[in-house]
Amino acid sequence: MLTFDNVSQHYGSFRALHGVHLEAREGELVVLLGANGAGKSTIFLTASGLLKATGGSIRFRHQELAGMKPSQVVQRGVVLCPEGRKLFPQMSVLKNLMLGAYVHRADAAGNRKRLDEVFSMFPILHERREQAAGSLSGGQQQMVAIGRALMSRPQALLLDEPSLGLAPLVVKQVLEAVQRINQAGTTVLLAEQNAYAALKIAHRAYVLEGGRIVLEGDRDTLLGNESVRKAYIGA
Ligand code: ATP
Repeated sequence: MLTFDNVSQHYGSFRALHGVHLEAREGELVVLLGANGAGKSTIFLTASGLLKATGGSIRFRHQELAGMKPSQVVQRGVVLCPEGRKLFPQMSVLKNLMLGAYVHRADAAGNRKRLDEVFSMFPILHERREQAAGSLSGGQQQMVAIGRALMSRPQALLLDEPSLGLAPLVVKQVLEAVQRINQAGTTVLLAEQNAYAALKIAHRAYVLEGGRIVLEGDRDTLLGNESVRKAYIGA
């Protein structure tokens, strides 16, 4: 469904991605593991058109994304929920959520329906809808970021470190929400530092090191892999 074929990326002369091949198939939840600086965010920024790939091809349902503007990528159904949430802290929760609906602004009824779905997934956001997003807890802000991405009606959702900086109980809640989104039919590509918790909800995973995919496999294969356990799980 979403396929990276030999994708390269550079920051100036620094090569951040070396011919990456990866795939998220229809309905899958695919986890991207890698240490800080491995290139996970670069993969997401490149897929969403925020960075232009310096080589290779990124296809979504056989359509080439490389070269498209970010808004065109969103319109095709590939939506990024970026690392660090990137909310507008002074704006209300509701206004932040509605920013995600911008590409569908002609469809007010569809956006209202989608908003109801987001509120039923995250009831706390309905309670706090008029509150400034920046006044919410870290976990609630992450829910706003995910909710905003859902308002863009993703068919493939790219989630960059959604649990970063959150307490363990909140990490669990966020990953449960990610799993529910996937089970409701959205394909998910998830970068996550909490490797064990992420693999538990994944169908498959890739390990990225220094901008290269060094390992891929299904959940149980990676959970059972000695070097993955040592490097990312610590048990
Ligand atoms: P983290 O988990 O820390 O966000 P990551 O796996 O997402 O790490 P990237 O942010 O994709 O990694 O970074 C990959 C490499 O590219 C790193 O070596 C990083 O220093 C470098 N890099 C990222 N952004 C830039 C930039 N704007 N200019 C130069 N180098 C960059």
